[in-house]
Amino acid sequence: MEDPFLRIEGVSKSFGTFKAVDSVTLTVGKGEIFSLLGGSGCGKTTLLRMLAGFEEPTAGRIFLDGRDMAGVPPWERPVHMMFQSYAIFPHMTVAANVGYGLKHETSLTKAQKAARVAEMLDLVQLTPFAHRKPHQISGGQRQRVALARALARQPKLLLLDEPLAALDKKLREHTQFELMSIQQRTGVTFIVVTHDQEEAMTLSDRIAVMDKGQVKQVGSPTEIYEFPNSRFVAGFIGSVNSFEARVTRRDGSHLRLSVPAIGAEVLARDVPSVVEGQSVTLAVRPEKIHLTKDRPDAANAVQGHVKDLAYFGKDSLYRVELPGALVQAHAVNARRGDEASRVADWDDAVWLSFDPASAIVLVD
Ligand code: ATP
Repeated sequence: MEDPFLRIEGVSKSFGTFKAVDSVTLTVGKGEIFSLLGGSGCGKTTLLRMLAGFEEPTAGRIFLDGRDMAGVPPWERPVHMMFQSYAIFPHMTVAANVGYGLKHETSLTKAQKAARVAEMLDLVQLTPFAHRKPHQISGGQRQRVALARALARQPKLLLLDEPLAALDKKLREHTQFELMSIQQRTGVTFIVVTHDQEEAMTLSDRIAVMDKGQVKQVGSPTEIYEFPNSRFVAGFIGSVNSFEARVTRRDGSHLRLSVPAIGAEVLARDVPSVVEGQSVTLAVRPEKIHLTKDRPDAANAVQGHVKDLAYFGKDSLYRVELPGALVQAHAVNARRGDEASRVADWDDAVWLSFDPASAIVLVD
Protein backbone atom coordinates (compact mmCIF):
# COMPACT_ATOMS: atom_id res chain seq x y z
CA MET A 1 0.00 0.00 0.00
CA GLU A 2 1.18 3.51 -0.78
CA ASP A 3 2.50 5.31 2.27
CA PRO A 4 -0.19 7.72 3.51
CA PHE A 5 0.59 11.43 3.39
CA LEU A 6 0.24 11.76 7.16
CA ARG A 7 0.70 8.88 9.58
CA ILE A 8 0.09 9.33 13.29
CA GLU A 9 1.26 6.27 15.18
CA GLY A 10 0.29 5.69 18.82
CA VAL A 11 0.68 9.36 19.69
CA SER A 12 0.07 10.43 23.30
CA LYS A 13 0.57 13.70 25.12
CA SER A 14 0.57 14.01 28.90
CA PHE A 15 0.60 17.19 30.94
CA GLY A 16 1.87 15.98 34.31
CA THR A 17 -0.24 12.92 35.08
CA PHE A 18 -3.08 14.02 32.77
CA LYS A 19 -3.26 12.36 29.37
CA ALA A 20 -4.67 14.97 26.98
CA VAL A 21 -4.09 12.73 23.91
CA ASP A 22 -4.14 8.99 24.44
CA SER A 23 -2.59 6.57 21.91
CA VAL A 24 -3.98 8.09 18.72
CA THR A 25 -3.31 6.24 15.48
CA LEU A 26 -4.58 7.78 12.24
CA THR A 27 -3.69 8.18 8.60
CA VAL A 28 -4.67 11.06 6.35
CA GLY A 29 -4.41 10.96 2.56
CA LYS A 30 -3.01 13.70 0.34
CA GLY A 31 -5.63 16.29 -0.57
CA GLU A 32 -8.15 15.17 2.04
CA ILE A 33 -10.23 17.44 4.24
CA PHE A 34 -10.01 15.56 7.50
CA SER A 35 -11.76 16.73 10.68
CA LEU A 36 -10.96 16.12 14.32
CA LEU A 37 -14.36 16.33 15.97
CA GLY A 38 -15.13 16.23 19.67
CA GLY A 39 -16.35 18.15 22.68
CA SER A 40 -14.38 20.68 24.68
CA GLY A 41 -11.20 19.32 26.22
CA CYS A 42 -11.11 16.05 24.24
CA GLY A 43 -7.57 16.75 22.98
CA LYS A 44 -8.20 17.99 19.42
CA THR A 45 -6.12 21.14 19.69
CA THR A 46 -3.29 19.33 21.47
CA LEU A 47 -3.14 16.81 18.61
CA LEU A 48 -3.12 19.65 16.08
CA ARG A 49 -0.33 21.43 17.97
CA MET A 50 1.77 18.25 17.84
CA LEU A 51 1.31 18.12 14.06
CA ALA A 52 2.42 21.74 13.82
CA GLY A 53 5.44 21.05 16.05
CA PHE A 54 4.36 23.36 18.91
CA GLU A 55 4.20 20.36 21.26
CA GLU A 56 6.33 17.22 21.26
CA PRO A 57 4.45 13.92 21.75
CA THR A 58 5.11 12.11 25.03
CA ALA A 59 4.90 8.87 23.06
CA GLY A 60 4.38 7.79 19.46
CA ARG A 61 5.52 9.10 16.10
CA ILE A 62 4.28 11.40 13.37
CA PHE A 63 5.31 10.90 9.74
CA LEU A 64 4.57 13.57 7.18
CA ASP A 65 5.18 12.80 3.53
CA GLY A 66 7.33 9.87 4.63
CA ARG A 67 9.47 11.95 7.00
CA ASP A 68 9.62 11.41 10.77
CA MET A 69 8.70 14.72 12.40
CA ALA A 70 10.39 13.97 15.73
CA GLY A 71 12.55 16.95 16.69
CA VAL A 72 11.66 18.92 13.52
CA PRO A 73 10.84 22.50 14.60
CA PRO A 74 7.59 24.14 13.42
CA TRP A 75 9.29 26.43 10.88
CA GLU A 76 10.93 23.49 9.13
CA ARG A 77 7.70 21.53 8.73
CA PRO A 78 5.69 21.87 5.49
CA VAL A 79 2.75 22.72 7.74
CA HIS A 80 0.89 25.91 8.50
CA MET A 81 -1.57 26.45 11.32
CA MET A 82 -4.46 28.85 11.03
CA PHE A 83 -5.54 29.95 14.48
CA GLN A 84 -9.07 30.50 15.65
CA SER A 85 -8.31 34.18 16.25
CA TYR A 86 -6.85 34.48 12.69
CA ALA A 87 -4.11 36.71 14.18
CA ILE A 88 -4.33 39.27 11.40
CA PHE A 89 -2.71 42.66 11.97
CA PRO A 90 -5.20 45.53 12.28
CA HIS A 91 -2.77 48.23 11.08
CA MET A 92 -1.80 46.39 7.87
CA THR A 93 -3.77 46.26 4.64
CA VAL A 94 -5.32 43.02 3.44
CA ALA A 95 -2.50 42.58 0.90
CA ALA A 96 0.21 43.27 3.51
CA ASN A 97 -1.38 40.75 5.86
CA VAL A 98 -1.36 38.10 3.16
CA GLY A 99 2.22 39.00 2.25
CA TYR A 100 3.31 38.80 5.88
CA GLY A 101 3.34 35.01 5.58
CA LEU A 102 6.15 35.35 3.01
CA LYS A 103 8.27 37.81 4.98
CA HIS A 104 10.94 35.26 5.81
CA GLU A 105 10.76 33.42 2.49
CA THR A 106 14.28 34.18 1.26
CA SER A 107 13.97 32.02 -1.85
CA LEU A 108 11.47 34.44 -3.43
CA THR A 109 12.24 37.81 -5.05
CA LYS A 110 10.12 40.84 -4.23
CA ALA A 111 8.31 40.50 -7.54
CA GLN A 112 7.65 36.81 -6.94
CA LYS A 113 6.22 37.61 -3.52
CA ALA A 114 3.94 40.28 -5.00
CA ALA A 115 2.79 37.81 -7.62
CA ARG A 116 2.06 35.18 -4.96
CA VAL A 117 0.04 37.67 -2.90
CA ALA A 118 -1.97 38.64 -5.98
CA GLU A 119 -2.58 34.96 -6.74
CA MET A 120 -3.76 34.30 -3.16
CA LEU A 121 -6.04 37.33 -3.12
CA ASP A 122 -7.56 36.10 -6.34
CA LEU A 123 -7.97 32.61 -4.87
CA VAL A 124 -10.00 33.91 -1.94
CA GLN A 125 -11.71 36.58 -4.08
CA LEU A 126 -10.37 39.54 -2.15
CA THR A 127 -8.51 41.35 -4.95
CA PRO A 128 -10.87 44.37 -4.81
CA PHE A 129 -10.21 44.66 -1.06
CA ALA A 130 -6.41 44.45 -1.23
CA HIS A 131 -5.85 47.98 0.10
CA ARG A 132 -8.44 47.93 2.86
CA LYS A 133 -7.62 47.49 6.54
CA PRO A 134 -9.13 44.54 8.44
CA HIS A 135 -11.72 46.75 10.19
CA GLN A 136 -13.02 47.83 6.76
CA ILE A 137 -13.98 44.30 5.72
CA SER A 138 -16.52 41.78 7.03
CA GLY A 139 -15.86 38.87 9.41
CA GLY A 140 -16.13 36.37 6.56
CA GLN A 141 -13.63 38.37 4.52
CA ARG A 142 -11.21 38.52 7.48
CA GLN A 143 -11.43 34.75 7.67
CA ARG A 144 -10.42 34.60 4.00
CA VAL A 145 -7.47 36.96 4.63
CA ALA A 146 -6.19 34.53 7.27
CA LEU A 147 -6.70 31.64 4.87
CA ALA A 148 -4.89 33.42 2.04
CA ARG A 149 -1.98 34.22 4.35
CA ALA A 150 -1.82 30.61 5.51
CA LEU A 151 -1.83 29.32 1.93
CA ALA A 152 0.69 31.88 0.64
CA ARG A 153 3.61 29.80 1.86
CA GLN A 154 2.23 26.84 -0.07
CA PRO A 155 2.15 24.42 2.86
CA LYS A 156 1.56 20.75 2.13
CA LEU A 157 -0.64 20.51 5.20
CA LEU A 158 -2.89 23.24 6.55
CA LEU A 159 -4.15 22.93 10.11
CA LEU A 160 -7.30 24.89 10.86
CA ASP A 161 -8.34 25.32 14.49
CA GLU A 162 -12.10 26.03 14.63
CA PRO A 163 -11.83 28.03 11.36
CA LEU A 164 -15.44 29.20 11.34
CA ALA A 165 -16.08 29.72 15.05
CA ALA A 166 -15.91 33.52 14.85
CA LEU A 167 -18.63 33.74 12.20
CA ASP A 168 -22.38 33.82 12.75
CA LYS A 169 -24.43 30.81 11.71
CA LYS A 170 -25.52 32.04 8.29
CA LEU A 171 -22.05 33.18 7.27
CA ARG A 172 -20.59 29.96 8.64
CA GLU A 173 -22.71 27.84 6.30
CA HIS A 174 -21.72 29.94 3.30
CA THR A 175 -18.04 29.98 4.29
CA GLN A 176 -17.97 26.17 4.67
CA PHE A 177 -18.59 25.83 0.95
CA GLU A 178 -16.01 28.48 0.14
CA LEU A 179 -13.44 26.67 2.24
CA MET A 180 -14.16 23.42 0.39
CA SER A 181 -13.88 25.11 -2.97
CA ILE A 182 -10.53 26.73 -2.05
CA GLN A 183 -9.23 23.40 -0.78
CA GLN A 184 -10.24 21.71 -4.03
CA ARG A 185 -8.52 24.37 -6.13
CA THR A 186 -5.25 24.23 -4.17
CA GLY A 187 -5.19 20.48 -3.42
CA VAL A 188 -3.61 21.22 0.00
CA THR A 189 -4.45 18.67 2.70
CA PHE A 190 -6.64 20.26 5.38
CA ILE A 191 -7.00 19.09 8.96
CA VAL A 192 -9.83 20.91 10.66
CA VAL A 193 -10.50 20.94 14.39
CA THR A 194 -14.14 21.50 15.23
CA HIS A 195 -16.65 20.77 17.97
CA ASP A 196 -19.50 21.36 15.52
CA GLN A 197 -20.75 18.09 14.09
CA GLU A 198 -22.71 19.70 11.25
CA GLU A 199 -19.61 21.58 10.18
CA ALA A 200 -17.54 18.40 10.23
CA MET A 201 -20.21 16.52 8.27
CA THR A 202 -20.41 19.24 5.60
CA LEU A 203 -16.71 19.90 5.17
CA SER A 204 -14.96 16.61 5.57
CA ASP A 205 -13.97 13.70 3.41
CA ARG A 206 -13.38 11.83 6.67
CA ILE A 207 -13.87 12.55 10.35
CA ALA A 208 -12.16 11.27 13.50
CA VAL A 209 -14.54 11.48 16.45
CA MET A 210 -12.59 12.04 19.67
CA ASP A 211 -13.46 11.64 23.34
CA LYS A 212 -11.18 11.93 26.36
CA GLY A 213 -8.01 12.03 24.28
CA GLN A 214 -8.93 8.95 22.24
CA VAL A 215 -10.22 8.45 18.71
CA LYS A 216 -13.53 6.61 19.00
CA GLN A 217 -14.22 6.19 15.28
CA VAL A 218 -12.82 7.28 11.91
CA GLY A 219 -14.87 7.30 8.74
CA SER A 220 -16.67 9.27 6.07
CA PRO A 221 -19.60 11.40 7.29
CA THR A 222 -22.00 8.76 5.97
CA GLU A 223 -20.21 5.87 7.68
CA ILE A 224 -20.12 7.69 10.98
CA TYR A 225 -23.77 8.69 10.78
CA GLU A 226 -25.17 5.41 9.46
CA PHE A 227 -22.81 3.02 11.23
CA PRO A 228 -21.76 4.53 14.56
CA ASN A 229 -19.63 2.07 16.50
CA SER A 230 -20.55 3.21 20.00
CA ARG A 231 -23.18 5.00 22.06
CA PHE A 232 -20.84 7.99 22.27
CA VAL A 233 -20.53 8.40 18.49
CA ALA A 234 -24.23 7.72 17.86
CA GLY A 235 -25.18 10.40 20.38
CA PHE A 236 -22.53 12.90 19.34
CA ILE A 237 -23.39 12.91 15.63
CA GLY A 238 -26.98 13.91 14.93
CA SER A 239 -29.83 12.96 17.21
CA VAL A 240 -30.80 9.45 18.07
CA ASN A 241 -33.43 7.51 20.06
CA SER A 242 -31.67 5.05 22.38
CA PHE A 243 -33.23 2.17 24.28
CA GLU A 244 -31.88 -0.52 26.55
CA ALA A 245 -32.42 -3.90 24.93
CA ARG A 246 -31.56 -7.57 25.24
CA VAL A 247 -30.76 -9.94 22.39
CA THR A 248 -33.36 -12.72 22.37
CA ARG A 249 -32.09 -14.58 19.31
CA ARG A 250 -30.42 -14.40 15.94
CA ASP A 251 -32.95 -14.59 13.11
CA GLY A 252 -31.33 -15.13 9.72
CA SER A 253 -29.41 -11.96 8.98
CA HIS A 254 -31.10 -10.02 11.77
CA LEU A 255 -31.13 -9.88 15.54
CA ARG A 256 -34.31 -10.10 17.58
CA LEU A 257 -34.28 -7.80 20.58
CA SER A 258 -36.61 -7.40 23.50
CA VAL A 259 -36.99 -3.69 24.17
CA PRO A 260 -39.05 -3.02 27.31
CA ALA A 261 -39.43 0.72 26.65
CA ILE A 262 -41.02 0.06 23.28
CA GLY A 263 -43.13 -2.81 24.61
CA ALA A 264 -42.45 -4.97 21.57
CA GLU A 265 -39.86 -7.22 20.03
CA VAL A 266 -37.64 -5.44 17.53
CA LEU A 267 -35.85 -6.79 14.49
CA ALA A 268 -32.45 -5.15 14.08
CA ARG A 269 -29.26 -5.15 12.00
CA ASP A 270 -27.02 -8.06 12.90
CA VAL A 271 -23.78 -7.45 14.74
CA PRO A 272 -21.66 -10.61 14.48
CA SER A 273 -19.98 -10.14 17.87
CA VAL A 274 -23.13 -10.15 20.00
CA VAL A 275 -24.54 -13.28 21.63
CA GLU A 276 -28.01 -14.32 22.73
CA GLY A 277 -28.95 -12.87 26.09
CA GLN A 278 -26.51 -9.97 25.81
CA SER A 279 -27.55 -6.50 26.98
CA VAL A 280 -27.16 -3.93 24.20
CA THR A 281 -28.40 -0.48 23.20
CA LEU A 282 -30.83 -0.07 20.32
CA ALA A 283 -30.38 3.23 18.49
CA VAL A 284 -32.71 4.60 15.80
CA ARG A 285 -32.37 7.98 14.09
CA PRO A 286 -35.53 10.14 14.23
CA GLU A 287 -35.75 10.45 10.44
CA LYS A 288 -35.60 6.66 10.02
CA ILE A 289 -38.89 6.28 11.93
CA HIS A 290 -42.00 6.30 9.76
CA LEU A 291 -45.06 7.86 11.30
CA THR A 292 -48.49 6.87 10.03
CA LYS A 293 -52.10 7.12 11.19
CA ASP A 294 -52.92 3.62 9.94
CA ARG A 295 -51.20 0.46 11.00
CA PRO A 296 -48.36 -0.10 8.52
CA ASP A 297 -47.61 -3.45 6.98
CA ALA A 298 -44.02 -3.31 8.24
CA ALA A 299 -41.63 -4.77 10.76
CA ASN A 300 -41.02 -2.96 14.03
CA ALA A 301 -44.44 -1.25 14.25
CA VAL A 302 -45.62 0.16 17.56
CA GLN A 303 -48.49 2.41 18.54
CA GLY A 304 -48.26 5.62 20.56
CA HIS A 305 -49.65 9.12 21.00
CA VAL A 306 -48.32 12.43 19.71
CA LYS A 307 -47.24 14.40 22.74
CA ASP A 308 -45.48 17.27 21.02
CA LEU A 309 -44.70 18.43 17.54
CA ALA A 310 -42.81 21.13 15.69
CA TYR A 311 -43.59 22.06 12.09
CA PHE A 312 -40.62 22.92 9.86
CA GLY A 313 -42.30 23.32 6.46
CA LYS A 314 -40.74 20.41 4.61
CA ASP A 315 -41.02 18.09 7.61
CA SER A 316 -42.18 17.94 11.22
CA LEU A 317 -40.59 16.62 14.38
CA TYR A 318 -42.91 14.56 16.56
CA ARG A 319 -42.42 13.38 20.11
CA VAL A 320 -44.46 10.25 20.48
CA GLU A 321 -45.30 8.63 23.81
CA LEU A 322 -44.92 4.86 23.95
CA PRO A 323 -45.61 2.78 27.08
CA GLY A 324 -42.10 3.31 28.43
CA ALA A 325 -40.43 5.98 26.30
CA LEU A 326 -40.73 9.25 24.48
CA VAL A 327 -39.60 8.72 20.89
CA GLN A 328 -38.59 11.39 18.40
CA ALA A 329 -39.68 10.90 14.80
CA HIS A 330 -38.85 13.29 11.98
CA ALA A 331 -41.46 12.83 9.27
CA VAL A 332 -41.78 14.49 5.88
CA ASN A 333 -44.97 16.52 5.64
CA ALA A 334 -47.70 15.44 3.23
CA ARG A 335 -48.08 17.75 0.24
CA ARG A 336 -51.45 19.07 -0.79
CA GLY A 337 -50.96 21.34 -3.78
CA ASP A 338 -48.50 23.99 -2.66
CA GLU A 339 -49.00 23.36 1.02
CA ALA A 340 -47.15 20.90 3.19
CA SER A 341 -49.29 19.57 6.00
CA ARG A 342 -48.57 17.46 9.05
CA VAL A 343 -49.16 13.74 9.03
CA ALA A 344 -50.64 13.86 12.54
CA ASP A 345 -51.71 16.30 15.25
CA TRP A 346 -51.31 16.65 19.01
CA ASP A 347 -52.78 13.69 20.95
CA ASP A 348 -53.40 11.66 17.78
CA ALA A 349 -52.89 7.93 18.02
CA VAL A 350 -50.15 7.07 15.53
CA TRP A 351 -48.04 4.13 14.41
CA LEU A 352 -44.30 4.26 14.39
CA SER A 353 -42.26 1.79 12.36
CA PHE A 354 -38.68 1.44 11.25
CA ASP A 355 -36.78 -0.80 8.93
CA PRO A 356 -34.54 -3.43 10.60
CA ALA A 357 -31.64 -1.96 8.57
CA SER A 358 -32.15 1.34 10.45
CA ALA A 359 -32.11 -0.33 13.86
CA ILE A 360 -28.53 0.02 15.10
CA VAL A 361 -27.30 -2.33 17.82
CA LEU A 362 -24.53 -0.86 19.98
CA VAL A 363 -22.43 -2.78 22.45
CA ASP A 364 -19.98 -0.12 23.74
P1 ATP B 1 -11.48 22.92 23.07
O1 ATP B 1 -12.46 22.58 22.00
O2 ATP B 1 -12.13 23.38 24.34
O3 ATP B 1 -10.36 23.79 22.61
P2 ATP B 1 -9.78 20.58 22.79
O4 ATP B 1 -10.43 19.31 22.42
O5 ATP B 1 -9.08 21.33 21.73
O6 ATP B 1 -10.82 21.51 23.52
P3 ATP B 1 -7.26 20.58 24.16
O7 ATP B 1 -7.04 22.05 24.07
O8 ATP B 1 -6.46 19.71 23.28
O9 ATP B 1 -8.78 20.24 23.98
O10 ATP B 1 -7.04 20.14 25.66
C1 ATP B 1 -7.19 18.81 26.11
C2 ATP B 1 -6.99 18.76 27.59
O11 ATP B 1 -5.61 19.01 27.90
C3 ATP B 1 -7.79 19.79 28.37
O12 ATP B 1 -8.26 19.18 29.55
C4 ATP B 1 -6.78 20.87 28.68
O13 ATP B 1 -7.11 21.51 29.89
C5 ATP B 1 -5.47 20.08 28.81
N1 ATP B 1 -4.30 20.89 28.39
C6 ATP B 1 -4.09 21.42 27.18
N2 ATP B 1 -2.90 22.07 27.13
C7 ATP B 1 -2.37 21.97 28.38
C8 ATP B 1 -1.16 22.43 28.99
N3 ATP B 1 -0.26 23.13 28.29
N4 ATP B 1 -0.95 22.10 30.28
C9 ATP B 1 -1.85 21.39 30.98
N5 ATP B 1 -3.00 20.91 30.47
C10 ATP B 1 -3.27 21.21 29.19
